[in-house]
Order: sequence, then structure tokens, then C-alpha cells
Amino acid sequence: MSLPRQPAGRLRAADAGRRVRLQGWVARRRDLGELLFLMVRDRSGLVQILFDRARCPSDAVDRAGQARSEDVVEIEGEVLLRADGQRNPEQPTGDVEVLASKLDFLARSETPPFTIEDRTNATEELRLEYRYLDLRRPSMLANFVLRDEIAFRIRRVLHDRGFLEVETPMLTRSTPEGARDFLVPSRVHRGQWYALPQSPQLFKQILMVAGFEKYFQLARCFRDEDLRADRQFEFTQIDLEISFPTEDDVFDAVEAFLVEAFDAAGIRVERPFRRLAYAEAMERYGTDRPDLRFDLALSNLDRAAQGTGFAPFAAALSAGGVVRGLRVPGGAATSRKKLDELAELAKEHGAAGLVWVKKSAGEVSSPAKKALSEAELDRLLSAAGVEDGDLLLAVADREKPALAALAALRVAAARERGLVDESRYVFCWVTDFPLLGFDEDAGGWYPMNHPFTSPRDEDLPLLESDPGRVRARAYDVVVNGWELGSGSIRIHRADVQERVFRRLGISEPEGRERFGFLLDALKFGAPPHGGIALGLDRICAIAAGATSLREVIAFPKTTSGICLMTHAPARVPAAQLAELGIEPPKPDRG
Ligand code: ASP
Repeated sequence: MSLPRQPAGRLRAADAGRRVRLQGWVARRRDLGELLFLMVRDRSGLVQILFDRARCPSDAVDRAGQARSEDVVEIEGEVLLRADGQRNPEQPTGDVEVLASKLDFLARSETPPFTIEDRTNATEELRLEYRYLDLRRPSMLANFVLRDEIAFRIRRVLHDRGFLEVETPMLTRSTPEGARDFLVPSRVHRGQWYALPQSPQLFKQILMVAGFEKYFQLARCFRDEDLRADRQFEFTQIDLEISFPTEDDVFDAVEAFLVEAFDAAGIRVERPFRRLAYAEAMERYGTDRPDLRFDLALSNLDRAAQGTGFAPFAAALSAGGVVRGLRVPGGAATSRKKLDELAELAKEHGAAGLVWVKKSAGEVSSPAKKALSEAELDRLLSAAGVEDGDLLLAVADREKPALAALAALRVAAARERGLVDESRYVFCWVTDFPLLGFDEDAGGWYPMNHPFTSPRDEDLPLLESDPGRVRARAYDVVVNGWELGSGSIRIHRADVQERVFRRLGISEPEGRERFGFLLDALKFGAPPHGGIALGLDRICAIAAGATSLREVIAFPKTTSGICLMTHAPARVPAAQLAELGIEPPKPDRG
């Protein structure tokens, strides 16, 4: 009877003397003439195999001499304790090696385009083209072992709390997250199209109407957006919905599974998460996804900047804009070059420019010094709480670009000053978002979240009279400057839903055409309900310490939406198009 297969990476000193049978990939060969070593790798890790002409059958040694990287081999042999000086403390199997008695090739490999090691200098394009080789690298495998553990723990927490995992359709109709849809033509119903779901939003609400009370799904979502390093066309959400909830019920479920998910990576997460109202987040940090690992807060310099002779301040304030500042403790030592970079960063975020003021050994220096009197400068510095040795960064502009610029400057300055403790994960809930934003270009209101988010009851009367002041029962969960997820308590009354649609400029016929099934469902006893969705890919990337979502997605697309391995998207034969009633594209001219 043949020996059972032994995982290579599990062999330890206690296994010395055992006969074992291994199957795996040749990671390296080292040929010393009389002695020959193969490192053999499988999913469990690596172990060293020793071929010794004096002790091993010659055909096994001869074959080992022909072994090449990534050949698949089967080896039998005896586990030996390595001599003292030959142990490798860096490898879990480093105390032992296997003295081979047999070697068979199960498959041969061509020379791989890059070596299968954690540290690689292969370009990302090459790694994506040969993804199966890239995924053989132990560090990549580790990301997926972690991802599996995270997903498993999240499922366990939610299952234990009574959430039902329910699958919702991939072929559906346009959903309301506001991104572009991926469309799928219907063959049977010529001229009609399915859309891939941007999220299961409407289905989960309808599951609440169905009386399921607690739903969740690790749901694949599709959004045809311009891709950036941290986006993919398709991604996975931890999507959940609860009936008869308070905000606290949602927060409690999410905090419980996030603690578990990060624990899978050995990261401790403190509960309860801090809560921060949207207005406060914007005022203090200039953003609704603040990095709270460091304490720097913005200051409002409107009053101090009023009536000064400094033209950019006067221009911003008279145009209804703002002057906001950031005190950088100990920042007076910042070099000119760094200040220029910070000014550039402010511009990248849409601000007209950046004014800096340094205070060092009682001396104030600033490019704005000539235009400001000593008293005016003092007023600014004290409004920002600047002390000796500090730097003040100030931006005068319309509120949006000014805050965006200062939010970015806050992070850059904190990094520069070494204030970011990379070992910490500081979570918070951002609450009390406005329900609506105003689109200057289109001249209309749009939902800050999506059109099914409930206004606060007490703000409902403002919906028609002062829409900008209506607060939503919406919330985001944020960690270290990343938005992990967002959700809300929903509208569960058809009349309120209709009113919100009207405010958003969705006419009655349009509302019926797009969301009639939801409006109908709301008429048949819809319970109050609410939920949230969190990005699983992002959670895995943060937990794994990965720089890109592509490191935790097995077969991701490039930033231009291409799968370099399968070459999707691709043309299809004209006959396939004809069956769908679609005209082939006209050949490109010129
Ligand atoms: N469906 C929403 C989204 O994908 C999340 C939610 O409101 O639950 O952003």
C-alpha cells in the first residue's frame, strides 16, 4: 500500500525517521556533485530533499539532476534530522530534510517567465498574464488563506446572530448606486437588456418586506466606473439588512464581524468604534473618511482672515468661500522643497494655492508676511493654536476644494512629521450625512447615498422647503482614512419614497418604470429596515497589508479593465451577435 501524501511544509524534527511520500513543485535545485538538493513546495510550504550518491538509488539521483524549476514531482524518502550547523531557522521545516529513495516526474515545466519567490522583480503585467504562477508565490497564497479565513469568520458571526445568507440575481435590472451599468443582452427577448447588479440593494429591501428579518450575502457587485488603483469593475460586498433596526443594531453586527475579520490577521480592533457626525468630520478633518490615527485638526480662520490685507483671503471670503488652516506641530523645520510639494498637493486637490506661516524662536516667516500686519499675523496664528516651532498651512478658496486640499495636507503633514502609527487601526462611524447634495452643473438635487435612504423624521418637513438641510439616517464605517462601507436606515413608506423621488427629479412614471416593484412592495406591509454594505476586498487588502486590491483578488483586471490572462474583453463571432440581434461593430476606418 502506498504511503499517504505528506504535506511538505509540515515536517518537523519530531518526524525524523519517518518514511514519507511528497508531491509538489520543484522550487530550487542545488547541485554539489555528490550531493544534490531539491526544495519541494506545495500549499503547506517547502522542504529540502537530499539526493546523496552514496546513499540513494542512482536512478533517483540521476532524475533529480534533470529536475527543473516548477516540475511537478513525487518523492519518497526518509525524514532526517539535519546536522547542527545545517539547520535553517528561517524555514519552518529547517530542522529536517528528506533523504530520497525515489523520484518521479508527474509533470514537467517550461522555464517560467519569472521565479516563483516572494520577492519578485516581475512587472505586474507579467504577473497578471501568468497569474497561476504568480499565485504560486507563497506570499500570494497567504493572502488567499487570509481572505478565506476572513470570509469564513464573517459568515460565522452573522450566521450565529441569525442572519440568513441569501443569493440575489446577477441578471437583473438597473440598480440605483449611480454608477454605469454593465448590460447583458437578452437572446429570448430581443432588444431588452439585463443589468448586472451594482449591489443587491433593492433585493435585500424586498427580503425584509418578505419577512426574513436578517439577511446577509457576500455579494459580487458590478460597476462600470473608471478604474483606479483601488477599484475593480467587479468586487465583493459584505451586504446586510435588518428589519426593525436601530442604527446601533447595524453598528453592533458590523463591529462584531470586523473585530473577528481583523483578528484573523492578528490585528486587534477596539470596540465600540468612535462616532463622528458628518459636519464635525468635515469641520475638523476636511473629509468624511478621516484618518484618526493622529490628532491634527483643522481650524476655522474665517474670522481671523477677515479684513486683512492679504488678497487671497479677501478674494475667497468675498466670494462666499472659506479660510481654513492646519497647525503642524513642530513643522517650522519643514524645508522649502517640502513646502513646494505641499503647495502642489493642495493644487492637485483643486485649491487655488497654499499659504504657509512658520513660527520659530519667536520669529514669524511667511510669503504672506508683507501683506499682513503683525497683529493680523498674530490673530491667524492664535486662531490656529500655533506655538513656537510650528507650521501653519492655510487655504483660502470655496469650501469644497479648500477642505479637500487640507484633508490631503493633513495626511501628508502627519506622514512627514512621523505622526502616523502604522500599527494602529482606528475605526469610526460617520453619521448624520445630509440626505441630498446639490449639483451646480445639472441644477438639481442628488442623493448623497442612494434614493432609498431615510431622512430623519424630524427633518421630513424640510424636504420641500429646504432640502439641503435634511439629514439622512445614513452612516459610513471608516478605518485609517479608508471608507470601508456605507449604509442607512431605509424609507419603508411608499408615500415618503415617492416624495424623495420627486425631490430628486424622478417623475412618477419614471419612478414606476424603474422601481415600481419596490414601490408596490412598500404597499404590502414593509417593516422598518436598514443595513449596510462593506467592501470585502478592501478589508482583506488592509488586513493583509497589501498595497492594492489586486493582491487579494485571484483574477483581477488591470486599471484599464483588461484581464491579461484570458484577454477579456474580447470580440465574439458575428453569428453570436446575430443570435442576440446585435449588429457587429463597423470596422474601424483609418
Ligand atoms: N447598496 C449600498 C451600496 O452598495 C449599501 C447599502 O446602503 O446598504 O453602496
